[in-house]
Amino acid sequence: MQQIRNEEELRLGGRMPLSTLDYPGELAAVLFCRGCPWRCPYCHNAALREAGGEADEDFAGALSWLESRQGLLDAVVFSGGEPTRQKALGAAMAAVRDLGFKIGLHTAGMFPEALADVLPSCDWVGCDIKAPAAAYDRITGIANSADPALASLQLLTQAHVAFEVRTTWHPALLTPTDMTALADELDRQEVPTWVIQPFQPKGCVDENLRAAGPAAFPDELLETLRQTAPGLSITVR
Ligand code: SF4
Repeated sequence: MQQIRNEEELRLGGRMPLSTLDYPGELAAVLFCRGCPWRCPYCHNAALREAGGEADEDFAGALSWLESRQGLLDAVVFSGGEPTRQKALGAAMAAVRDLGFKIGLHTAGMFPEALADVLPSCDWVGCDIKAPAAAYDRITGIANSADPALASLQLLTQAHVAFEVRTTWHPALLTPTDMTALADELDRQEVPTWVIQPFQPKGCVDENLRAAGPAAFPDELLETLRQTAPGLSITVR
């Protein structure tokens, strides 16, 4: 997989002016970055997966808008798509930090070298870990996709940056055995916080998943996961 090169300016597909959910404990704006080479069936941002597109938001315009939010927002989250796919991410983070905002990053960890480059610029990272290693390719649609994701997770556990691991869960995609295996893997890697995000159909392009409706995470399975991984703080959100 290749990062997008020779881009002087971050390519955006839109922004969310206010979120209380995308950066824990902070009022944040979210900038959605274009481009993602993976193909998770539950993706809510399929329109952002293509690196190009006609409705790109202009980063300079987003920066001007953020100037008007100084004192009103705490943080800016770079989300996607996959933000680390773009070479311009580091410079964009620096420009946003210069305005006085904390920096959040949502990543699936598919470009560990790029993540290492921008980690010193991040105050908080939400890292999507899709599945236990053995089931990764089934979720992402990409061969050997666990390798870069786990390399990124290792970077995060060794870095001095706050982070949480997040996993989207749908019963048709991740079985109780998958979830128990993932809990064990995360616990062994000394991940502090795991947020399980039950599937929500809104925005999902997969008709079958959408038709099944929202998923409710079983209490019994949550209890099993907590017993499997006692060192891991697990929440469903
Ligand atoms: S990694 Fe994220 S943006 Fe990319 S396909 Fe999966 S859910 Fe969508």
